[in-house]
Formats: sequence, structure tokens, C-alpha cells
Amino acid sequence: MAPEVTFWGTRGSIPTSGPEYAETGGNTACVQISLPDHVILLDAGTGIRLAGEALAHDRRPIILLLSHPHWDHIQGFPFFTPLYQAGRDLTIVAPDHPEWIDMLVGQVDGVRFPVAADFLQCDIHPSADLAEALRGTGVGGTTIATNHPGDGIGYRLEFGDDVLVYLTDNELVPPEAGPTRFEEFGAFVQGAHLLIHDAQYIVDDLPDKAGWGHSTIRQVVRLAETAGVSRLALFHHDPATTDAVLAERAASWQSRLQEEMELLVARDGLSITL
Ligand SMILES: [Zn+2]
Repeated sequence: MAPEVTFWGTRGSIPTSGPEYAETGGNTACVQISLPDHVILLDAGTGIRLAGEALAHDRRPIILLLSHPHWDHIQGFPFFTPLYQAGRDLTIVAPDHPEWIDMLVGQVDGVRFPVAADFLQCDIHPSADLAEALRGTGVGGTTIATNHPGDGIGYRLEFGDDVLVYLTDNELVPPEAGPTRFEEFGAFVQGAHLLIHDAQYIVDDLPDKAGWGHSTIRQVVRLAETAGVSRLALFHHDPATTDAVLAERAASWQSRLQEEMELLVARDGLSITL
């Protein structure tokens, strides 16, 4: 059975509130993938609080994959209910970056958060090796370096024939060469059923925000179309972009697509079947 994907937090940079943002939602990055015997979470922005509530009475082991330790991807972690439940199994994965896990868990230190790590009840298994963390789950996973200040990691996850790619905080066409070229991202994304990609900007935001580590919708659509992606979810919305503006941009791009592809605006609380 194809996994269920739930967006708990889709905003970039900083949480947002206000009536003009309510439809999309204002929680920062967190996406859940539900499998029969496991739950995978992508990032621990403020959306992970809602994931924790939804998983409070669910005993499946949780595997949390980190894209990078910028604040909007880790700030919800102390509010994740399973942390305070005895016997819960939480694997935290930061491929080749074990220090990111220290930054994540280290927020619960009794100073930046009212309780310290010894208060945590769940069993935490840190891992810097994706293949090892996914062993026995039936999920295949590979990574790619994103173009983002301070480094970042994108994930390609394969559930049998179903492929999901999570590429957030990624500048597809940076002003100076980053670790990964556009063509390499194309190969990484090839044939994905769902591509979740940072689309924080539009062309008008450049060149002011060139080098900040995010992409324009135009660049993301081009990547998805050249790689034969079935469904593209625009993600990591700028905190200043309203629901009305996002809807207008999505409609405009939908009508200009060259290839047969579904384009959607990721919003908090949206669930789709992969
Ligand atoms: Zn971010």
C-alpha cells in the first residue's frame, strides 16, 4: 500500500500567523510519511508538535530525518510529545553530520527549554548512517548535498515502486557553484511520484536573495518537468507570502506547465497518498 504523506509544517524561515496566512498555515518544516510498521518524519520545525499529538497514542517506531540544523528545521523538537513517553522508539538521522543531532537534542538543556535531556523518556537512537537507520523497514534511501549556507541534505526515499524526494532549503541555481549542479539534482529526482521542494522565491526576489539558499518556483518547475516528476509540492513558503499570493502563483504555473504533472501548494494539515 502506498504510504500516506502528511504536511505538518510548510513555512520557511520563521513561524507565521495571521488571517492572510491561515489557509496555508504557519508552522515550520515537518512532513510525516506513514508506513504500516514505522513512521518517518522529515525535519523538526514547529509542525512536529502536531505530529507528536497525532502520534501520541501510536506505538510505531519513529525515524526522524534531518535536512540541516537551521532553526526553522529543529525548533519544534522540544514540543514533540513522544519524547516524554517511556518506551517510545525514536531514531534521529543526520547522514554524515552527527553534530546536527547534538544541536537538535541539545535544545532540551534546562536553559533554552525548561527541562533538561534527562527528563526525556523515549529511547533515542542517533544515527549518521541512513542505510543503517532504514535497515529492516523496507524503505530505500539515498541522499544528496543541497546548495544551502552551512550545508544541507536532500532525501530520495523509495517505498517499493513509490518514490518521494524531499529537497528543502536548496538553491537550484546559486550565484556561485554549490556542492551540487542542477543536472545532478535532475538525476536524483528522476521519476519521483512526489517531489517536495523549497520554492520560497519568485524571479522578482532575485538578485537580492541570490545566495540565500532557496529556489524560485520557475527553477523548481523546470527541475520537476525535466525529471519526469508526477506531482510537485511547493514547500518552505516565505513567511511574508500570503495565501492569496500563493494561490495566484500556483494557478499561473499550473496553466503554463509543459509536461503532465500535478502542481500543489503544500499546506499545514494536508494529507495525500503517495
Ligand atoms: Zn528552512
